[in-house]
This record gives sequence, C-alpha cells and structure tokens, in this order.
Amino acid sequence: MASDWDVRTRLVHAEAREEGEPLNPPLVMSTTFRADPEGVGFSSTDMGEQSPFFYARWSTPTVRTLERRLADLEGGEDALCFASGMAAISGLLLHLLKPGDHLILSDVCYAGTAEFARGMLRRYGVEVTPVDLSEPQELRAALRPTTKLVYAETPCNPLLKLTDLAAVSALAHEAGALLAVDATLATPIGLRPLTLGADFVLHSLTKYIGGHGDVLGGVIIGGKSALAALRQEALVHLGAVLHAFPAWLILRSLSTLPQRMAAHAATARAVAGFLETHPRVRRVLYPGLDSHPQAALARQQMSNTSGMVTFQTEEGPAMARQLARKLKLIQYAVSLGKPHSLLFYLPTEDLQRSSFQLPPELLARYRAWAGDGVFRLSVGLEAPEDLIRDLEQALSPADAR
Ligand SMILES: *Cc1c(COP(=O)(O)O)cnc(C)c1O
Repeated sequence: MASDWDVRTRLVHAEAREEGEPLNPPLVMSTTFRADPEGVGFSSTDMGEQSPFFYARWSTPTVRTLERRLADLEGGEDALCFASGMAAISGLLLHLLKPGDHLILSDVCYAGTAEFARGMLRRYGVEVTPVDLSEPQELRAALRPTTKLVYAETPCNPLLKLTDLAAVSALAHEAGALLAVDATLATPIGLRPLTLGADFVLHSLTKYIGGHGDVLGGVIIGGKSALAALRQEALVHLGAVLHAFPAWLILRSLSTLPQRMAAHAATARAVAGFLETHPRVRRVLYPGLDSHPQAALARQQMSNTSGMVTFQTEEGPAMARQLARKLKLIQYAVSLGKPHSLLFYLPTEDLQRSSFQLPPELLARYRAWAGDGVFRLSVGLEAPEDLIRDLEQALSPADAR
C-alpha cells in the first residue's frame, strides 16, 4: 500500500488486488488450519512472525488483516487485537508488570482501567499511583526507579482533560519507563501517540473505530518484538482473542472512519457551542472549543477533537432525571462512539466511591472540573440542528418537576 496516500484513500484501498480477487476482505471463520508435521510445534513459543495460521487463539486471516490496517493507521510496526478494550488493557498491564513494579496511571481514566489497576494489579503486588498527567511536572515528581510504565488516557474519560504526550513521553523515557496511551476517545484520526513518543497505543474498537454500536473489540499498536511477546502471553495464554466476525465488521467500519470522525467532531462543536450559551448549563468541556482549559494543546496535538462533550448543569441529579425523561432523540445510555447520541450522568461522589478513590488533593482537582457531577454526551451522527432542538426542549424549565 502506498504510504504517501491520504488516510482516506489508504483505508479504502488497503491492499493491492490481483484480477479475480475480492475488493472486500474475506471473512474466514475457521478456528483451525491444516498444519505441516515438520512445521510448528504445539507451544506458543514455537510461533514466529512467519508461521502459517495454526489455531485461532494465535491468529486468523481476517483478524490479521484488521491488525495490519490498524498498525498502518497509527504508524506502528504491528498491532494486536483483543476481544474487548478491557482485554487489551488488562493484557498489556499483566504482561508488562510484575510484583514490585510501579505503575503511574492517569488519575482520571476509563473506570474499568482504574478499578482493574487498583484491584487486581495491587493484589498481585504492583504499586499503582494515580497522577494528574495533564500536569507534566506532577509526573516528574511521581516517577521512581521502579516505575515501569506510565499509562495515560487522552482525552480522558469523562473529564476530557488532555495529556501533553510529547512532554510526558520524554519524562517517562528519561526515567527508564514506557508510555502507553489509551486514545479511544481521540481515535487515530484525531491523535497519533506513537509519533509523539508513546511506546504503545490502545483503543477500544467498540467505540468510534467499530463505530456502529454492534461489536466489542480492542487493539494495542506498537513495536514488532514487544507485540510478539505480548501475543504469546496476553493473547495465547489469557485467551481473550477477537473473533473473525467482529474483526470483519470492524474492517468494514474502518473505510468510513475519517468521514464519521469529521461528522462527529463538527456536530459536537455545534452542540457544545449551543450548550455554552444555555442559561441552565454551568460549564461545557470540549477540546475543540476555545473555552477548554487546554485548547492550545488540543490544537497542537489533535487533528480532530472527536464527538465527546462533557457539561455541568444546576442540580445535576434532578436534571439527569429530567433529561432522561424529556430527551427524544438523545438516548440516556452508557458507552460512546455510536451513530446514536448518548447521554449519561456521572455523579462525582459515586465515581469517587466506586472507580477512582482519589486522594484528597486529586479529588479536589476532579471537583474543580466536574463539580458534583457531569453529563457525558457522546454526539452521534444525527443532524446538529435536531440534536440542539432536542436538548433545548429537554433543558427548558417549563414543565420540569
Ligand atoms: C470503553 C472504553 C474502554 C473499554 O473498552 P471495552 O471495549 O468496553 O472493553 C477503555 N478505554 C476507554 C477510554 C473507553 O472508552
């Protein structure tokens, strides 16, 4: 594939085709493949990059095609797909960290990641420190000789704070640590962490990349030898592999990713702009608005500011009930990156009890952004004027109880 083609072209014309070959990638559902008795052995350590397909927990043709395209999209040497975003995250952390190692984790990040690190990883003897990575000097202070990995999420869920990846990767590497970045909210269309120094990029393929709300998946992109070792431990032994059919659905979604992200971002900007002017809205956080505290970093680091908007209103819980009742188009539901717009209220106290459990000074910072709670709006592919009208009628106090 010609690397000087624009990403839109590369995602449609991923491979050269010979006469008679299909234009779309084939779906290969077989779990086992005819083997050569002189060829590979039965252990995962016998599998190399050149090994033929053998058993579906190692690799399959359809998933491999998806991995090659995702690696190309991120500018990485290789990619490894998993059954879900969490399988990719837990696989990477279990593979890289051992008892006594120190992990620095974004203080605000996907709840599953925070809970996994604080629960299972600590139980296995890994030291875990939450750090506000939107302030690079905080990272400098938290790094230790035993720090093996810095794990960032940018924009982070649900506050949409950003991490300056060039600054953070330089600090991590200086201290001998690796940097992994969950860039699910940004997608490869908005952010290229490997070009800014990250060692690994992770995505939940369930979100924008799958993009249609009908498939779970995860991916890690990085260097060839690091991913070969990861394939053995985190895929072959932990076993949370992506199946061929979801991989095929995600391949189908990839060809429209740039256009979908352009639409998500343009509509999110319009909706966020409307929310900013609404009298019942206290604060709006969207990296594509000048009012975002890190708008300059967003402009410098991101080429698409994605479809996630976070906002605060007066009386959060009462407003959550009102919006869930009155919104007609926007669905009150978790998750993000779907054609449908989705809204969910995240009370600070609940999150603090269940997911984040931040020390007082980080909690105070969380509150400075989120107050008692925030609405997380995943702006879908509907027309912006319809979404704005829906929000306008649902926010209005006229028949609020
Ligand atoms: C959804 C999400 C995950 C987890 O992905 P699943 O596919 O649901 O397992 C991880 N990180 C971020 C930022 C997410 O939004």
